[in-house]
Amino acid sequence: MGQIVLTLSKTTVAEMNQAYMAMQKPAPAGAVFAAKTDTSTITAYQSGKVLFQGEQPEVEASKWGSVEEAEIAPKKVKPKHGYEPDPSLFTSSHIGSDEAGTGDYFGPVTVAAAYVTDEQIELLREIGVKDSKNLTDSSIHSLAEKILALKIPYNLIVLHNPKYNELQAKKWTQGKIKTILHNHAINQLVKEIEPAKPTGILIDQFSQPSVYIRHLKSEGKRLTDDTYFITKAESHSIAVATASILARASFVDEMNKLSETVGIELPKGASEKVDRVAGSILRRSGPEELGQYAKMHFVNTKKAETYQ
Ligand code: MG
Repeated sequence: MGQIVLTLSKTTVAEMNQAYMAMQKPAPAGAVFAAKTDTSTITAYQSGKVLFQGEQPEVEASKWGSVEEAEIAPKKVKPKHGYEPDPSLFTSSHIGSDEAGTGDYFGPVTVAAAYVTDEQIELLREIGVKDSKNLTDSSIHSLAEKILALKIPYNLIVLHNPKYNELQAKKWTQGKIKTILHNHAINQLVKEIEPAKPTGILIDQFSQPSVYIRHLKSEGKRLTDDTYFITKAESHSIAVATASILARASFVDEMNKLSETVGIELPKGASEKVDRVAGSILRRSGPEELGQYAKMHFVNTKKAETYQ
């Protein structure tokens, strides 16, 4: 299945709306219209972006604009392992998953999986869904709200610090913790969206797929069918970018709640500022209390002791 995106004037989009009147189908939220011909599905958005998808999207697209200059799917990159997705996955209905909080001393680990249909991809791009690393906390919040308003199916897991520390004490590496959380979030979502079946599942890669599979095996689980891994997946896949925003927004929320409980603004990351704040909590309430808010195996705990 191919895809072509043309950027057209409002007048042309209005003309198209008329021309495809007899072939229209229910448009996704936020779209001007959607239509289906023998060769392609056409979805037009407020911004003037028009998406042509199907067996021969060029048949209709070439009536309205220059297909040669149109945006086409990203070129295939050389595979690094056997689980690299075909780029066509990025424009198909798929699940993406990503996590937040793993590099932060304070706060939980949050993992989200989101299911995005091919028709929603452009719409999510329109509302500004992109790599959450380049977004501020407040824009993450408003984006997460917009995503929720679109009723995108998702699953979110929050692993709070006491449970995280317990798993660490059981010698679970952070890689294993992330693996089990991703796997759980994805499988729950797969069940929730039934009978819809995603073309594939894309995980923002944090370890070699063989390591991920080994962690699953150690807990008697297996890799879900059609699962793919790629690094920086959020820059290729809107589903991963969506999951990444939901995970990040949840992490920010949890940090705000924890800060309120502790009565100190808990800094993100793992910097010296973090050591100082951890030191003051240690001084005031001891390590058990600190374990309610922090990932105790981080080197920050040792450093915090020197601030006591
Ligand atoms: Mg990630």
